[in-house]
Amino acid sequence: MKKRSSSKRQIQLKGIPAAPGIAIGKVHIFGTEDIVPDERVVSQKEITTEIKRFRKALKLTRKEILAIEKKISREMGIEHGKIFSAHLLVLEDSVLVQEVIAMLKKKKKNIEFVFTEVMNRYMKVLSEAKDEYLRDRISDMTDVGKRILRNLTGAEDKKLEDLDEKSIIVAYDLSPSDTAMMHKGRVLGFVTDIGGRTSHTAIMAKSLEIPAVVGLESITDKVKNGDEIILDGIHGTVIVNPNKRFLEKYQKEKKRYEYLEHELIELKMLPSETLDGKKVAVAGNIELPEDVASVISHGAEGIGLYRTEYFYMNREDLPSEEEQFNAYKSVAARIKPNYVIVRTMDLGGDKFLSQLDVPKEMNPFLGWRAIRFCLARPDIFKSHLRAILRASVYGNIKLMYPMISGISEFRQANEVLEEVKKELRKEGTPFNEDIPVGAMIEVPSAAITSNILAKEAAFFSIGTNDLIQYSLAVDRVNEKIAYLYEPAHPAVLRLIKMVIDNAHANNIPVGLCGEMAGDISLTAILLGLGLDEFSTSPIAVPEVKKIVRSIKFSDAKKIAKEALAFTSGAEVQAFARAKLIELVPDMAMELVG
Ligand code: PEP
Ligand code: MG
Repeated sequence: MKKRSSSKRQIQLKGIPAAPGIAIGKVHIFGTEDIVPDERVVSQKEITTEIKRFRKALKLTRKEILAIEKKISREMGIEHGKIFSAHLLVLEDSVLVQEVIAMLKKKKKNIEFVFTEVMNRYMKVLSEAKDEYLRDRISDMTDVGKRILRNLTGAEDKKLEDLDEKSIIVAYDLSPSDTAMMHKGRVLGFVTDIGGRTSHTAIMAKSLEIPAVVGLESITDKVKNGDEIILDGIHGTVIVNPNKRFLEKYQKEKKRYEYLEHELIELKMLPSETLDGKKVAVAGNIELPEDVASVISHGAEGIGLYRTEYFYMNREDLPSEEEQFNAYKSVAARIKPNYVIVRTMDLGGDKFLSQLDVPKEMNPFLGWRAIRFCLARPDIFKSHLRAILRASVYGNIKLMYPMISGISEFRQANEVLEEVKKELRKEGTPFNEDIPVGAMIEVPSAAITSNILAKEAAFFSIGTNDLIQYSLAVDRVNEKIAYLYEPAHPAVLRLIKMVIDNAHANNIPVGLCGEMAGDISLTAILLGLGLDEFSTSPIAVPEVKKIVRSIKFSDAKKIAKEALAFTSGAEVQAFARAKLIELVPDMAMELVG
């Protein structure tokens, strides 16, 4: 190995962790240059030839994408193949094709030039979109656009599969096809200037298990080919030209991470039960039907929270009952015989609806949100409930209302549910008559009156993301006061204990589906308080399971009791971490922050 030059300056950067893992290696800058076609005037006679060339390039592109789709579906599963079906849709977009042809006739310039102009306009609109999901679709569009352009100009296709040395890829952006073609053995990881958590590139990286950090803004300006680089895809950290101390630290962490990964995979199929035999459910949270694959692959025992409001976002119109039914049905059927808790839409707060004229509010988190919105718009709520009920015969669906503040709201929602059930019965449409209906406990008033709610709800799921913000009066999205947002605050722990005790006194189970469920430093406390279900992002499922399987319930109860005696969140947190290190030392590196 070449001696590292001491003159190279170490740079540490923070980006968005897109796929977990640690990679250490040499930089390989991947071609970011765009294909810039020449501008040429074409005669009236040439227009037909240009259109023919365009159609031929579209045909060829289609053939290429179909081949990739087939390869990816075979190697990585249909879910990932589908990304390329979306690419085919871009190709088949007759508006785009017609627009290019119309521009060609009008401008009388060569087709590749006209095509680039139209594509650039589309990209500009997408890049200005407020919505993260839409912005993340740029790379799909660029991917197809570049492919068409390459087929028009005959430019050479650079491929990551041709890489001949193990490297860490540094790029402005990577398209899903670039990512799909990565050779796991050679590509140690990748980092990009742009990109978000929900981009298909990030999704594919996770599936390929290639560590990745995206959204680093200008990493491409800060590195050269051959530079040494460390990539920490767990925390989103990238270190260019690391000094000896960092290098050694990350080499150790990499080894531990790989050991842990190996261990966690082993326990994926094992039950989540404590050393002394207490069983709890470790489930996954999903936002979109596609997420079911990840829930299953991480060994979750069900879906503890399906955030259906994502169906209503990023679109111009309201989703139809049929569309929703198909989605809920597919989720229920795929997770079967395990359960899925379908939470009725939780719009409002920081999740806005573009298609409805919802007035701006001074305090959206305290405003017209979730069940409040649904009860005020029975037309929308009913079609939502109809879809869920109709899907309930295809699997094990439980229903849950968000933002319940007390028994009256729970009853009102159930009245609407009863009306919908009556309609379905009258029509002869099948549904599960005994569908369990639970309440989210995320408003302090619901926690405090949980003894009342527990008499009518089939189960509870504690939404700590909101329960913390409301009980501590800390806006969950305001970074200025983030230091006050303490899951281990004694007030939060007492509320959680109260909810669990009230539920158990009434023989109903309690889950917890906020981010706190995936915070492994708090797993022992929650377990000791008697929680029946942890529902977390799929990626955290094996870690939570590992903790559950490494401790005794009797010890967890003692830990919970001790934790409740502390006077501040900081004390509880320090105690919880120390206990984790003591009881499950090999998980200590997974502690975030
Ligand atoms: C919560 O509040 O903890 C929760 C799971 O719901 P959301 O994050 O969607 O508000
Ligand atoms: Mg919530």
